[in-house]
Amino acid sequence: MKENQVLKKNRRGTQYIEENGEVIAKRCSGCGEMIELEHFSKSNAGLGGTVSKCRPCILEYNKKYSKKKPEYDKRYYEKNRKGTVAKKESDKRYYEKNKGKIIESRKRYYQENKERVLERAKESYLKNKREVNE
Ligand SMILES: [Zn+2]
Repeated sequence: MKENQVLKKNRRGTQYIEENGEVIAKRCSGCGEMIELEHFSKSNAGLGGTVSKCRPCILEYNKKYSKKKPEYDKRYYEKNRKGTVAKKESDKRYYEKNKGKIIESRKRYYQENKERVLERAKESYLKNKREVNE
């Protein structure tokens, strides 16, 4: 801590550091570290104009609790889209070349597993019916 820095606490008990009257760092509500403000995402409602968790904590939180894909996943996808497209193209080519074989093997799989497939469908139908009646 430098001389012109003050350790403060807001109403919610979050510690933060002010320098010349401006918030420059605050304690992350996720990892509990005192972190510079630049490592938090912007939010008008939050202390120092940022959200309460640092970026790594937000990522971690999203990974655990969000059904939506985390932001970095999207970036990864964007970065690899070209590769994905190329792969789809080659999949398509593979499919075109082997169409007969693929369809044949799908048909065979269904024929060989028909009873099991139907049995499973029946079971889940009966189960649903029981649950409704109960
Ligand atoms: Zn954190």
